[in-house]
Amino acid sequence: MRLLLFGAPGVGKGTQAKLLSVKFDIPHISTGEMLRQAVKDQTDLGKKADEIMSRGDLVPDEIMIGIIKDRLNAKDCINGFILDGFPRTINQAVELDKLLEAMNINDIKLINIVADEEELVKRLNNRRACKVCGQIFTLVEIQNSNSCPKCNSKNSFYLRDDDKEEVIRKRLNVFKQNTEPVLKHYQKQGKVISINGLGSVEGVNQELMGHLSS
Ligand code: AMP
Repeated sequence: MRLLLFGAPGVGKGTQAKLLSVKFDIPHISTGEMLRQAVKDQTDLGKKADEIMSRGDLVPDEIMIGIIKDRLNAKDCINGFILDGFPRTINQAVELDKLLEAMNINDIKLINIVADEEELVKRLNNRRACKVCGQIFTLVEIQNSNSCPKCNSKNSFYLRDDDKEEVIRKRLNVFKQNTEPVLKHYQKQGKVISINGLGSVEGVNQELMGHLSS
């Protein structure tokens, strides 16, 4: 199975991708996660990406396309993969199409998770990440706790720079201008499944699984 998880920032792409990755035993490839790791490790890529991400802008296409080419050619992608956060521009989509064609892959589906913009602003501003393992939690999930439920690190929660309200609004605008056209690109190819992202994590997952098994 090869899936592209698509939707505005905060819509739950990462959460659904993680569930699908466990269920189908295929890698979850989040370009945002890869970039955050590079920033943490202070690699050349991380140094370039840090400021761009904090502003809510997109990292240049040629960098992102290079990262994805290397990653999809890795052995663990042979039986499938879930891309989360890529492609985010028409140029990335066109390059991905070429790459998949060269790899003889023609079964991709784009899962379009849809949600109301104001709800997304609220959600993103109310989430916290663990600076040690990167896992994301809602404030409700960690309200009486100062240690990370996933890795047990103490006092490790923080509000990502790009989850602050002014940056969220910027990311939503970037999504509308640069990323939404990607949806039309795959609609023309008949590869889009749209689902409602406003329900519970389990509810959204059930709707998604229903589409994938039909
Ligand atoms: P995410 O965790 O997917 O919301 O990504 C966080 C940030 O990483 C984005 O706001 C962008 O700055 C950058 N990023 C992630 N994926 C891409 C991509 N495909 N193209 C350009 N920038 C990206």
